[in-house]
Amino acid sequence: MNILVVGSGGREHALCWKIAKSPLVSRLVCAPGNVGMAMLAETRPVSATDVAGQVALAQQIAADLVVIGPDAAVAAGLADACAEAGIPCFGPTAAAGQLEASKAFTKAFADRHGLPTARYGVFDAAPPAKASLAGFSPPYVVKADGLAAGKGVAVASDLAAAEAAIDEVFGGRFGAAGSRVVIEEFLDGEIGSVFALCDGRTSVMFGAFQDAKRAFDGDVGPNTGGMGVYAPAPVLTEAVVDQVRTRLIEPAFAGIAAEGAPYRGVVFCEVMVTADGPKLVEFNARFGDPECQVQMLRLESDLVPYLVAAATGRLAGATPPVWRREAAICVVLASKGYPGAPETGSLIRGAEVDFGPNVVVFHAGTARRNDGALIAAGGRVLNVCALGVDVAEARARAYGAIERIDWPGGYHRTDIGWRALAR
Ligand code: AMP
Repeated sequence: MNILVVGSGGREHALCWKIAKSPLVSRLVCAPGNVGMAMLAETRPVSATDVAGQVALAQQIAADLVVIGPDAAVAAGLADACAEAGIPCFGPTAAAGQLEASKAFTKAFADRHGLPTARYGVFDAAPPAKASLAGFSPPYVVKADGLAAGKGVAVASDLAAAEAAIDEVFGGRFGAAGSRVVIEEFLDGEIGSVFALCDGRTSVMFGAFQDAKRAFDGDVGPNTGGMGVYAPAPVLTEAVVDQVRTRLIEPAFAGIAAEGAPYRGVVFCEVMVTADGPKLVEFNARFGDPECQVQMLRLESDLVPYLVAAATGRLAGATPPVWRREAAICVVLASKGYPGAPETGSLIRGAEVDFGPNVVVFHAGTARRNDGALIAAGGRVLNVCALGVDVAEARARAYGAIERIDWPGGYHRTDIGWRALAR
């Protein structure tokens, strides 16, 4: 098979790493790809949201499958364009991808289909949004409605901070994503990321993880796209994951199909595990970043047959994926200043060495300087991932590798996995 992977982050590097191991694959092309992906596959300078360019590339390489990485490509309608061109595509149509593109859509969808989620209000101006805070109690949850790379959510401890967060959304910090604001009831519990594949009708559960969204140790600081993740997560017991499947994932797939937009691809269901069971925080219409890095490390089965089956409506009868017994962890190395204004261009030494069979370093925002040296070129830059007999061993291996990487321009959390170890 010829496969085109669309995207350029750590998630797409991990997908390529796993796809490249499949005996079914003869040619692997990534667009636009990154420094890490270029070591595994051919890369082409076509942006993920250049829909016409991606379809033309898929035709040029006679792609048997297009795999969409980032949400922006889903929202841009890449799956729709692939369908028109007759190219099998792993990733939902823009209509089905609405599950992620708008928080207001997701909340209304959850109401229509009886999915347990936080009480909320949607506002398109600051004064009514601020007035609504009286109906909630602190901490207040304030979200920009659209896609904001995981950074559009503020959990504010008092009214003044909540009002400032509302002003920030309407002040244009999140661009078009900030034309509406969603105010939500605060859900108390532990967060989890649960994944499922769907082919439009049939779904298959695809792993559960716990990520760390806050920038700094101890889960404080601003929300980010994700600073680390690990699995298995003790909070996501088999019973909890089963509740996520029956109360959230299956009704969501059935609901979106009933609304005329059958879902093909992966859904990433972010849940708060509360005393009343799991509640929906949000859906994402793609693999997680950095969840995917840990998912690919732990996946024993060949990924490609699942991607093909989901893209072509043939998941019925698929066996559940087999996971490695080992735990896995991913620690994100970010540029100083992330998630605000990351300082890029700094030199990274020691990241491209052999760290042994249990450590893999995926690239996200890296670039090559003219002399070939590795430099930072984005917010989240490297993903140091490791396997171990348990979370403690995986974690020790990942941090051991990080110690050998010399990057004064970066920072990382030193406590990824603490919730598992605290139990
Ligand atoms: P989101 O972008 O919707 O995934 O939210 C980012 C993070 O904010 C989540 O991972 C949670 O940690 C936190 N969060 C979002 N919504 C809520 C809520 N209703 N209650 C408590 N925490 C929340």
